[in-house]
Amino acid sequence: MAYYYVNKNAQTNGDHEVHKSGCSWMPESENRKYLGNFDNCQDAVREAKKSYSQSNGCYYCCNACHTG
Ligand SMILES: [Zn+2]
Repeated sequence: MAYYYVNKNAQTNGDHEVHKSGCSWMPESENRKYLGNFDNCQDAVREAKKSYSQSNGCYYCCNACHTG
């Protein structure tokens, strides 16, 4: 299990990146929303999409969930 967060600010392509706790690309605390404790990034991205329909896994910490 790991803690996951979503960036409140979209990337230039409109994606809100989902990060796992410990990622060096984690946004500052005021710029991220806590998603929960999940077994895998797929569940974390699904949760993120409730807030931001265009959510995507971080290339570095959630590569399995990164598209595009
Ligand atoms: Zn990350």
